[in-house]
Amino acid sequence: MENTIYDLIIVGAGPSGLGASIYASRYKLDHLLIGNEIGGQVTEAAEIENWAGEISIPGKTLMEKFQHHAHHLGAQIVESDVSSILKNGDVFEVVAGKDTYKSKSIILSLGMKPRKMNIPGEDKFIGKGISYCATCDAMFFRNKDVVVIGGGDAAATAAIHVSEFAEKVYLLYRETSNWEPSWEDQMRANSKIEIRCCKNIKEIKGDQKVAAVVYESMDAPKDETLDVQGVFIEIGSVPGVVLAQNLGVKLDEQKYIIVDQAQATNVEFVYASGDVTTGSNKFRQIITAVAEGAVAAGSVYKKLKLSKK
Ligand code: NDP
Repeated sequence: MENTIYDLIIVGAGPSGLGASIYASRYKLDHLLIGNEIGGQVTEAAEIENWAGEISIPGKTLMEKFQHHAHHLGAQIVESDVSSILKNGDVFEVVAGKDTYKSKSIILSLGMKPRKMNIPGEDKFIGKGISYCATCDAMFFRNKDVVVIGGGDAAATAAIHVSEFAEKVYLLYRETSNWEPSWEDQMRANSKIEIRCCKNIKEIKGDQKVAAVVYESMDAPKDETLDVQGVFIEIGSVPGVVLAQNLGVKLDEQKYIIVDQAQATNVEFVYASGDVTTGSNKFRQIITAVAEGAVAAGSVYKKLKLSKK
């Protein structure tokens, strides 16, 4: 165990954690940033077109810029999974790999995990035709027919990206879509993409690999089969909150970390930021995640100063 007691440990190195680190450095907080995937889920986004100052930029490139900025200001980044956070007296003990780090305060920037469909065939074909990451896996579907499932921005951007490789992309969603109209324009202009509304996916079939999806129309339920070699599941995410729960942090009914306007949780000296929180009206965007990280770091600074910890 290290003997240093940091002012702050930020857990999670997505945009919110990196944003928190940038502000923590500006406040001269002696801090560590620990995360197993620098840049988080954003690194999987093919193109980001709503980050101020960048008309269009691959998610990975944007996150490399964030990381560079955090490093430039002196951030110490530990690339590791955090397995537990315990409070021992006034000090938090954060276990990451074989090491334990101590700190006076915590910011939980834990991000989200892909939501699963929970239908027959899903578990069986993960990595055998089913993917939750279009950016990572699209290239494996060159000249193939694939289905993208979902009605949000992730599904739309996945369909556009996958169409650069696949022969045909069917985008199936349930009753409503909530993607940005500009994505819809791009999809409608793309002859490889066929959007099918009001479909409920029931099963993914195959032998060794994905061979078909079975779905029904929501207005006229009757099983239909679409022969495809790939399925991209892009149906949103769920918050990754196990570490928070173990610390006694309160969650809302959808399991998001409840924060106040200072990004403070119910546990003293524990703050949270980004997609995992109830903050920013749950408008889960990079721009709001970074802003929450900045607010959380500012709040830690004020709290430590007031408590003379
Ligand atoms: P969203 O929550 O926006 O959308 C999830 C979609 O999945 C909905 O259409 C939902 O349909 C559908 N869905 C949920 N469960 C199921 C199910 N069991 N079966 C079929 N469909 C299901 O999630 P996204 O991942 O698309 O986006 C998350 C956030 O990230 C958003 O804020 C988005 O704007 C942002 N984002 C932005 C991007 C960009 O602009 N570059 C790219 C990707 C994400 P239903 O309504 O029927 O439940």
